[in-house]
Amino acid sequence: MILDIPTMYFVSVVTNVAMTMAVMIVALRQSIPGLKLLAWGLLANSGYYLVLGARGTLPDMLAIGVGNTLGSLTLTLCLLAVLYHSRARMASVLYIVPIVLMAVVSLALIHDRESRLIIASFILCYQIALILWALRQGGNVIVGRGRTIMVAAAAVATSMMAYRALALWFGWHEVTPFQSRDTLNTIFYMINYLGMFFLAFGFVLSTIEQVADQNRRLALEDPLTGLSNRRALFEAMDRLFASAEVAGQPLSLMIIDVDLFKQVNDRFGHQAGDTVLQLVATTIKQRLRKDDIVGRFGGEEFLAVLPDTPPDGAIQVAEELCQTLASKPVFVDGQEIEVTISIGLFSSACLASSQTPDAVIATADEALYRAKENGRNRVEIMEVPIAVSA
Ligand code: GH3
Ligand code: MG
Ligand code: MG
Repeated sequence: MILDIPTMYFVSVVTNVAMTMAVMIVALRQSIPGLKLLAWGLLANSGYYLVLGARGTLPDMLAIGVGNTLGSLTLTLCLLAVLYHSRARMASVLYIVPIVLMAVVSLALIHDRESRLIIASFILCYQIALILWALRQGGNVIVGRGRTIMVAAAAVATSMMAYRALALWFGWHEVTPFQSRDTLNTIFYMINYLGMFFLAFGFVLSTIEQVADQNRRLALEDPLTGLSNRRALFEAMDRLFASAEVAGQPLSLMIIDVDLFKQVNDRFGHQAGDTVLQLVATTIKQRLRKDDIVGRFGGEEFLAVLPDTPPDGAIQVAEELCQTLASKPVFVDGQEIEVTISIGLFSSACLASSQTPDAVIATADEALYRAKENGRNRVEIMEVPIAVSA
């Protein structure tokens, strides 16, 4: 297969202009950090192909000088998009100097194609390596498969640039004219073209994945305490109850209710009440195991499911929770607030099929009612005996 270089440059201009428009439309409608910079990068890349593709028509000084500088500018804009998106920092000299150097080298070595190509390849190799470094720095912001695509594209491109520089330097490949259809020129072109495409695609995909992740979290998380919300709780309960029943394992469930919480709000204000709820949530979360689930059931009530936990273990955990909270008053704005909780506990040594989440919650609720009646700051349990088959 022989690729016609001028045709490919023309296709590259069209592709990059189309990508610029697509990304800019998204960037103008949604404020995703770095997306506009990426669009500018794609535009600079269109310019790179346009100017270099017009070699022969434009004077060499202009085509090579401006073209190469636009190529370098493209990479710096992509780097800035990654940095800005992930709020990572880098000394500006590290990404401005390569652009200046590229312009100077392109003009100074206008008649020495070999030296120009070698130095330009090293500069581009360095610039792409900077993008890889920035992706590493922003590892917790730029995420998912989008990030993998970006890292792979940058890694291949930077390796290719290094290879090209070394191959020309050590004479592994001959230096051929600009429009030559030799293998190195074609591979260089394809990697340039696809590298930029995958970098931009990966960036956009990563931001979409981030938004989807955020929406999923918002749909399942209680905003005040950060615990699972009611919907997430019921989803998790369906799973835990089904596996406990199949495995014939014990399971415990507790409803935790803050005592006389209305009085806390009335005396100290709603804001202080919220702080108390956050503290109770943290205390519960810290005491439970990784496999337990805990969420905000509603208002000042929390629900926890403890898989593989028999009655004696569940009682111990519940009583420790009551003691922990009762023993350390909460301070909000210098005011001391005494917080106690009551816990209604359901515990089965061997979960039966009739013990559905709804039925078990109703049982725990009965126990909670008893705990309130019996003076609060205490645990009451509705223990279910092991079913003995005849
Ligand atoms: P008991 O010991 O019997 O449970 O008494 P209580 O006062 O805790 O129970 P009650 O159901 O009378 O009051 C619960 C209060 O919780 C009423 C409601 O305003 C308050 N509440 C519910 N959700 C929130 C919240 O998100 N923030 C704050 N600050 N208060 C809340
Ligand atoms: Mg309540
Ligand atoms: Mg209450």
